[in-house]
Order: sequence, then structure tokens, then C-alpha cells
Amino acid sequence: MPDRREAAIVTVGTELTVGLRVDTNTASIAAACAQAGYRVTEAVSVADDTDAVARAIARLAGDNALVIVTGGLGPTHDDVTREAASQALGRPLRRDPALSERLAAAAERHVDERARAQVLRQADVLDGARVIEPQTGTAPGQIIETATSTVVLLPGPPSEMQPMLAQVLASAKHVPEPVVLRCARIAESDAQVRVQEAIRAFPGVDLTLLASPALVDVVLLDAGAGKDVLVEAAQAAALALGEACYSMDGASLPEAVVRLARATFAKIATAESCTGGMVASAITDVPGASDVFVGGVVAYSNDLKQSLLGVPDETLRTHGAVSRETAEAMASGACGLGARVAVATTGIAGPGGGTPEKPVGLVWVAVATPEGVQAHQLMLTGDRQGVRQRATVHALDHLRLALERM
Ligand code: AMP
Ligand code: MG
Repeated sequence: MPDRREAAIVTVGTELTVGLRVDTNTASIAAACAQAGYRVTEAVSVADDTDAVARAIARLAGDNALVIVTGGLGPTHDDVTREAASQALGRPLRRDPALSERLAAAAERHVDERARAQVLRQADVLDGARVIEPQTGTAPGQIIETATSTVVLLPGPPSEMQPMLAQVLASAKHVPEPVVLRCARIAESDAQVRVQEAIRAFPGVDLTLLASPALVDVVLLDAGAGKDVLVEAAQAAALALGEACYSMDGASLPEAVVRLARATFAKIATAESCTGGMVASAITDVPGASDVFVGGVVAYSNDLKQSLLGVPDETLRTHGAVSRETAEAMASGACGLGARVAVATTGIAGPGGGTPEKPVGLVWVAVATPEGVQAHQLMLTGDRQGVRQRATVHALDHLRLALERM
């Protein structure tokens, strides 16, 4: 018998297996399953091929208490999920009279006789299946109980799938939501080692990490611990991560920056060279940023660094545009825009422009506060966009830390 908490997901559609559509259903079903207390052991995408879909369903229904299948329930020839499930579970298809009657109206709208017949295929249900009425769209869902598993067939369009999924999982046991400790400027494996150590004392907590450039989300999942223990584990993890952790409530890094600036009544400004406005853009993505963000300048040329930010000609000539001194002068200059705290970026994003002394990936970030200016030298990896993205995260995070210390 499969573990009654284990689930699998099958998404059906050649558009998914050839990469024409991004599979968003797997992510939303996985999240909903986790929330309902299931551990998803496997998620597969299968082309519109009856035998292949049947094989996937048969195999996963043998190993999992719950199998959720989406897609392939429409009216057209490539919608094979009904036949595949019928084949896999050994249940013949029967035309449901009530569904058939309701679909008749939709069928009438088609001129072609064959198209009318196709629409009615959506009234075919597996023997013994429970029908889930569609709230939007025409394709009904189906729930089939086998000796080992509950197999659920749901339509592919996310807007039709979601309400049915909610209905199916509503009765399942709810587990505490995962706690996400969002971190910046820490390597994924460093975060993992620190947190693993910290949560060892809390049984029933699973750890997973999601990394993107210069950012790591440390996710603690309930695996039997219960809400109280999960919260305690999260506190221990936060302590272990220290100042790398910028939020525990889902807030993004720019959101954390805006929130801190609001809490400390600090107006903020940006002065950007290599990031070309990406820092300002990230801040202004946050609703209500206007409460705290006065604005910023993209000063790419030396001329603009001088005229808009007051970087001394002498500084640029002696140290160059990519230097501690220039970054510091840019940040100080940006405070002159009417901000208490400002962040500046200047660096070499590549692919050209690097020298042995100042290679591609060298970026200076400076933060000016009423206490003074602090510059940070970074050696960032990646292509041009990667360097710029990482520089943006570093700039936002240094700004965040400066605001935290205020
Ligand atoms: P189907 O139920 O297979 O006819 O799917 C109908 C439509 O739903 C497809 O054309 C896609 O636009 C969408 N769809 C199907 N499966 C997925 C999926 N896994 N993720 C996102 N959209 C999907
Ligand atoms: Mg399809």
C-alpha cells in the first residue's frame, strides 16, 4: 500500500513536452498538495499519447495514495486522458446522461457534425468515477478510487483546474504553511549547512533551498512537526543565518527595503552606473514605494557623474569611474537629491571593458547614510546580465542593512 500522504502529478499535453507552453499546473498543484498535507514524490509531463499517459497513470497509481492528472480532457482528438485513464485503471468509459444533456447545448453551437460529436466526448466518464462539475469551461473533472489510490482527472486550463483542485483537496488534512527564510549574498551550500545544523533538534521539519542570482530562499516544510515546532525551527534557522536573512514573511528584498525605509522615516535615492536603473526599477516595483523613494539617476558617463552627482573630476581622473572613491562620491551625491540614505553602483559588466586591474565582474557598491559612506568591493560572476542582476541584489541588500542599522 502506498503511504497515504504521498502524491504524484501528471500533466498531459504535447505543448508541454515540446516546450510551447510553460507548465504552471505542476507548481500550483504541488503547492496545494503540500498545503493539504501530501508529499509530492513525482511530477511528470507526458505528450498527448494514449499509451504513454496510461503507463504514467498506472505506474504512479500503484505507488501513490493520490494521483492528480491535468490536461487532455478537452473535446479534440489530442485529448486522450479519459481513454488513457480508462486503459490504465481497467474501467470502461460510459457516457454520463446528465453531462451529455448539458453539453448538448455547447455541441449545438458547432456547425460540423463531427465537431458536435467531439464535444460530447467530454461526457464520457470512467466506470464508478465521481464527476466534478465544471464552474468555468465545459470539461468536467473525475475522481476514481482504486484499491490503492485516488486518481483525479482535471482539465488543463489553469482557470478551470484551480477551482476543482481546491474542491478535491478541501477535505484533506491541512498542514502548516512552509516558512521561507529569504536570504541575500549567501552561498546556497553555506545556507544549507548552517540551517541543517540549526534545525537538527527539530524532528519532522524538511529543508529545501531555492537559489537565484545572489539570493537563496531557505524553505522549511512541515513533515510531521506541527506548526509550533516549525516556528521554533524557523527561529533557530533565522539565528543561524544571521544578517543574511532579510525576510521571513515572504517579502522580497525590495519590499524589505521599502518597509525598513518607511519604519525609519528614511527617504532613499539611487545613483546607478552599471545597473542602469535596475535598482530603482526594483524599488519602484513595490507598491507604495513613493512614500520613501525620492528617485535616482542613471549616470553612465563621467560627465553626468560630475554634473548630476557632483563626483569631482579629480576623483574620476585619479581613480577611474569604477573605484571605491567614485562609488562613494556617487552615493553622497545622491543624498543631495533629498534623501537620507542613498546607494550607488559602478562596475564592469562586460563582456568588454575589463583590464587585469579592473576585470569584468568588478563592481563597487556604496551606501551613504548620515553616519558616513561605506563602499563594498564585489567580484561578481556571470554574463553581462548576470553581473548586473547580482550587482542589483548586492546594492539593495547593502541598502537594507544600512536601514536596519539606523
Ligand atoms: P487541455 O485540457 O489539454 O485541452 O488543455 C487546454 C489548455 O490548457 C492548453 O492549451 C494550455 O493552454 C492549458 N494547459 C494545459 N496543461 C497546462 C499546464 N500543465 N500548465 C499550464 N497550462 C496548461
Ligand atoms: Mg491538451
